[in-house]
Amino acid sequence: MPSYDIIIRNGFIVDGTGSPGFWGDVAIRGNRIARIASRITDTAGRVIDAAGKMVCPGFIDPHVHEETVVLYDGLFEVYLKEGVTTLINGNCGHSVTPGHSHRIYEYYYKNGLMTEEARERYTREQPEWTNFAEYCDVIRAKGVNLNVGFLLGHGTIRWVVMGGSKDRPPTPEEEARILGYIEEGMQQGALGISTGLSYIPSRYADTDEIVKCAEVVARYDGVYATHARYYIGIVESTEEAIEIGERSGVRVQVSHLTPTSPESYDKVLEARRRGVEICIDTIPRSTGHCTRKDRLLQFIMAISSELFDQGVEGVKAALHTPEGRALILKDAYIFGNEMDKVLVINTGDPAIEGKSIAAIAEERGYEDPKELLLDLLADENEKYTFWLGGPSRHDFPWATHPESIRNNPLVMVGSDIIFGEPWDPGSWYELQRRGGFVHFLQSYRAAGVPVEEIVRRNTSMAANMFRLFDRGVLRPGMIADIAVIDLDAYRFPAPDEIDYSDPEVCAEGVDTVLVNGQVALDGGEVQPAYAGEVILNPSTAGRR
Ligand SMILES: [Zn+2]
Repeated sequence: MPSYDIIIRNGFIVDGTGSPGFWGDVAIRGNRIARIASRITDTAGRVIDAAGKMVCPGFIDPHVHEETVVLYDGLFEVYLKEGVTTLINGNCGHSVTPGHSHRIYEYYYKNGLMTEEARERYTREQPEWTNFAEYCDVIRAKGVNLNVGFLLGHGTIRWVVMGGSKDRPPTPEEEARILGYIEEGMQQGALGISTGLSYIPSRYADTDEIVKCAEVVARYDGVYATHARYYIGIVESTEEAIEIGERSGVRVQVSHLTPTSPESYDKVLEARRRGVEICIDTIPRSTGHCTRKDRLLQFIMAISSELFDQGVEGVKAALHTPEGRALILKDAYIFGNEMDKVLVINTGDPAIEGKSIAAIAEERGYEDPKELLLDLLADENEKYTFWLGGPSRHDFPWATHPESIRNNPLVMVGSDIIFGEPWDPGSWYELQRRGGFVHFLQSYRAAGVPVEEIVRRNTSMAANMFRLFDRGVLRPGMIADIAVIDLDAYRFPAPDEIDYSDPEVCAEGVDTVLVNGQVALDGGEVQPAYAGEVILNPSTAGRR
């Protein structure tokens, strides 16, 4: 019998606490780290050589939306190849509870987050659930390669209880049901609640309504994660998040905060110094979303009050009449984008591939580029993908963060990877978010932030925020979620290097990742280890 299951030898050990790294070996037995030493000479079932590489805790991604994807595909190659081992799902107000799963799919469909075909397929093929605990059972039965934790979604709960997106406060009876669902979900192990205060229906909730919800979450030591109310201003919406934390006593995670507002980051740091437990995640870089024609037609339907009831066929018909086109232009925000920032890709037509709507319109003699966009949506080619916003987004630009943000100890990565359907990833995607941890590590390191500090932000700090006290640090007794990263090879292609016909581009430079002591990425190849766990709130875990 070997002494250990696995020994990772000769690595540069960055333990996740922020302490300086050191060279040594890490031994694993079962799902836990058994020993860390300068040299471990005992035998092991498997020895992994990490010479020249960093050995660190697997990264924790606090902001993803994989709660439906995981039902079909729990391999999660894109995360493993960045060194991520834990995902927190259910962000921006969208979640898989409360109530019956079929109603949840309806919510995702009606909010433009799932196609009609996908909704039918999920409804037909997936096991049903009626509450958070049953959903967790479904995920456990299917198996998942990463650890997955879940937030409750305020938007989904409000929508289910109030029977849709209602621009009014809940009645006392509705409020009691909303708080009851939050209580039930927290008791069953949810890690907290999220809001999408820029989106319907969460945006119809005022600060007082959110504080009442947050008070329930605080009683179970949960997190309040917020896609803030940007329409009142970035700083003002960050202040609202802080106020909710101060008034309710809940921990606050400010979601995907834009680095274009350094003042907002300063406000968060000041609040933390006053005693509010609060952190920030940010998307290190993002381009526009690549949205295939069929999906774009669905979005147009989802945001049009007149066309919604007519379905996608109604939108297609409307594209062929002047009145219909006027209706589409009235509600569809994509037509508000500057047409030189909407690019057409995956066309199969070299004459227009990669060009902007404005450029093609000029070549073809259109007076109004929006008419060209309508014509492309109306024509026979189903493959066009519209790159909405093109290769740069002003809110998550291709630029190093200002010094005050880089040095803010509360800033971590939240990748916010866009989720196309697992069987059809080309329908909706964004390619820089798939390299979020790479971009963060590279740009912060280049600016002089020590790698130990970068690792701390994305491991132990995130673990503490979600109270995952046996993860996020390499130390004997801790769970063996470990990434082996070749820092010189850790990279992700830039917008001009990417092949946009492949929506599944992944990072390079990570060859080994362990999840709960099992090798989930081996020699750069994803393994169907399915050793991930459903992570429950430690304050309530085990209770039903
Ligand atoms: Zn969001």
